[in-house]
Amino acid sequence: MEKIPAAEAWFASLDGQTRSRLERVLGTYQMGITPYYLSLIQKFEPGDPVFAQIIPREAEATILPDELEDPIGDDNPELHTHPVRTITHRYTDRVLFHPTPICAVYCRYCFRKRLVGQAAFTPNPADIEEGVAYIAAHPEIREVIFTGGDPLILPDNRLVKIMQQVAAIEHVLLLRIHTRLPVVNPFRLTAALADGLAGLGKPVRIVTHFNHPVEVTQTAVQAIRKLIERGIPVLNQSVLLNGVNADTRTLESLLLKLVTNGIQPYYLHHSDKVRGTGHFRLSISRGREIYRELLTRLPGYAVPGYVLDIPGGYGKIPVNSDHVIPLELGKYRLISLQGVRRDYQE
Ligand code: SF4
Repeated sequence: MEKIPAAEAWFASLDGQTRSRLERVLGTYQMGITPYYLSLIQKFEPGDPVFAQIIPREAEATILPDELEDPIGDDNPELHTHPVRTITHRYTDRVLFHPTPICAVYCRYCFRKRLVGQAAFTPNPADIEEGVAYIAAHPEIREVIFTGGDPLILPDNRLVKIMQQVAAIEHVLLLRIHTRLPVVNPFRLTAALADGLAGLGKPVRIVTHFNHPVEVTQTAVQAIRKLIERGIPVLNQSVLLNGVNADTRTLESLLLKLVTNGIQPYYLHHSDKVRGTGHFRLSISRGREIYRELLTRLPGYAVPGYVLDIPGGYGKIPVNSDHVIPLELGKYRLISLQGVRRDYQE
């Protein structure tokens, strides 16, 4: 809480024009921060990696022509990947289950920025039942990924009850939760929650979201240990973000801290073309350069897959592969795993 005066002083220091641009941003997108995550800000300025991720900036009011509200195409009607309100079914064998649009913090670069924190996207009990019924009716679904919003924002009994219903479906073999709570409020990882997840009778994985080494605190590590001790693997996905972690040394330090604490690096996402996030995005060539350097500095198991979601909903592709073909300067041809081709201008 001692950081609140610093936050107030920072806001008071802004000129009128900057404040009014920030107010415009906040009229469109949510802002939220936990006291714990606020405490990780060292300096109230955009150069601070936690500040940069969480405090709205006037740059968010600048919308580039090819930026999208829904960059990964969750709602692309041509693809029919959103069969019922709580389910995204993009890959045959797995689905995303969205039990809540609410998060503990609102990351300024989020690819679901259009819906997170919006009460209108909150599913009702019938929507949840419909999601469970959809999974039960599709025997090709082997894994269910609870995502959001942030599923760990739900009380233990609600989350565990939904997961129990899904775990009881015979053809569902694997469960996964995507959450930022271990990073922004590690106190949420109680022994009771860990016991509930470990008792579901199907393997559960937690995929969390550390972007910078300052986030990997002893508090977070000790909380995550409650999961690992109960046999729940913890993986991590990061987003490559200018002004936060887009340099080799920062990522090397992050990845080493993760693996030494039993957290398995999973994905490094090239940041999506979300509206008002141009200040976070770096070029694909710079991303590839950083990634190649990571491969020379770290053991293979410490280097996550570097991936890019093809805008429009055509899935993830490995950036360091021939699914991303350079054309003229700044332009690429992206080829999905199913062979769909899309041009990409950075
Ligand atoms: S916690 Fe995840 S879903 Fe929520 S705003 Fe951050 S990136 Fe988006």
